[in-house]
Amino acid sequence: MLRPLLSLTGGLIATLLAGALSAEPLSQEDLSVAEVLRDRALESSDAYSIVESLTVEVGPRPAGSEGDRRAVAWAQEKMKALGFDRVYTEQIEVPRWARGHAHARVVAPFPQPLVVTSLGYGIGTPEGGITAEVVEFADVDALMKAPARKVRGKIAFINKRMERTRTGEGYGPVVSGRSKGMTAAAEKGAAALLIRSVGTDSDRFAHTGMMSIDGIEKPVPALALSAPDANLLEAMLSRGKPVEVNLDVHNQRLEDGPSFNVIGEITGREKPEEVVIIGAHLDSWDEGTGALDDGAGVAIVMETARLIGELPLRPRRTLRVILYGAEEIGLVGAKQYLAAHQSELDQIVAVSESDFGAGKIWRFDTRLPETKFDIADQMMRLLAPLGIERGHNKSSGGPDSSVFVARGVPAFGLYQDGTDYFDYHHTPNDTLDKVDPEILKQNVAAWIVMSFLAVEMEGDLGRVPVAQ
Ligand SMILES: [Zn+2]
Repeated sequence: MLRPLLSLTGGLIATLLAGALSAEPLSQEDLSVAEVLRDRALESSDAYSIVESLTVEVGPRPAGSEGDRRAVAWAQEKMKALGFDRVYTEQIEVPRWARGHAHARVVAPFPQPLVVTSLGYGIGTPEGGITAEVVEFADVDALMKAPARKVRGKIAFINKRMERTRTGEGYGPVVSGRSKGMTAAAEKGAAALLIRSVGTDSDRFAHTGMMSIDGIEKPVPALALSAPDANLLEAMLSRGKPVEVNLDVHNQRLEDGPSFNVIGEITGREKPEEVVIIGAHLDSWDEGTGALDDGAGVAIVMETARLIGELPLRPRRTLRVILYGAEEIGLVGAKQYLAAHQSELDQIVAVSESDFGAGKIWRFDTRLPETKFDIADQMMRLLAPLGIERGHNKSSGGPDSSVFVARGVPAFGLYQDGTDYFDYHHTPNDTLDKVDPEILKQNVAAWIVMSFLAVEMEGDLGRVPVAQ
């Protein structure tokens, strides 16, 4: 009696198991293809040669500049050469700016030069420069709260250090000094703004970056000091005597002009109108070659699409690679893309962006409806062997992706190790030697698992409720 009962139970369990397995959203076949793609990426990823090509053949590419124009041409040619089905551009309108020289020196009490760089879209000084006393603030809030008489006619110096972390979360609390400091200084009648660079290095490079420039009647020159120069100024101020600095800055605000989002697609075989968007930004700051920010991201998403395009069969839906223009100056390309494609929002299945350098991916974040978590769990089976752990469900999908996420589009976030990202970020030191070809392969391997399964899966990801 026992044997037949056991075999009956065994049969029941097998049936139940099969039922449970078939209830999983991603098919075994899709997972197998994703695994093959993942391992191919680890073996043969060509992402490094893409970022090498971009940094060597184009280099710096600030929005609307000559370098930007060459980057747009480069991206189209490269996508065509890599076998994309469709390659096209969409024009955007961008504010433009040209950096001139920026010299700073202590005049008294201990005359010596300081290494500085202008913040993005900053104005110059009058001919001959300006000389004024420096007044120090712990952070931008302290500057905002200070009485105007303490700041008027002086150089406001925001001296806040950034903490080094793997997640980069030290950036947020410090970057407000860069984005809002100039406005705060101008409103109090300061002669200029100096900030300690938003970075984690101790190199004698200053970090540039965008600041808010809208609606300010009388902007003032705004510059970042390299970390060692901020230390120097801090030490002089600590001696209790007035410190006078001379600033001589030449920048030029240019007329608005055109730039472009560059878009390439692997067209879906069954539901071509449904798209998964993977992106990076094509523009960079002007002082480095934009290898980490965001040449690596450009290479990762282009290589991901190339490998998927090499499959014998096109994926079920369309994989759309968007290389956004003018991210650095305020997500201009992403915002204009969204505005131009409002009516197609429902067709965007998911978004993701690579824009945090070239470090190893260690965490997989999502922004999915709770009913779709099982899809991420299945993806994790192929991501875990790459050393990736499951993260949270609050992913923004990356800076440009966040405009779609704000409208309820699901997002994936493959989080890179950012421990040293802010050593180089927005400096002349953001160059190709900081990109490790082997680590880039791990990135592409992870991106291909996520991207392939999202374009190939049977079901969809629904919409994520947006907080009102
Ligand atoms: Zn970036």
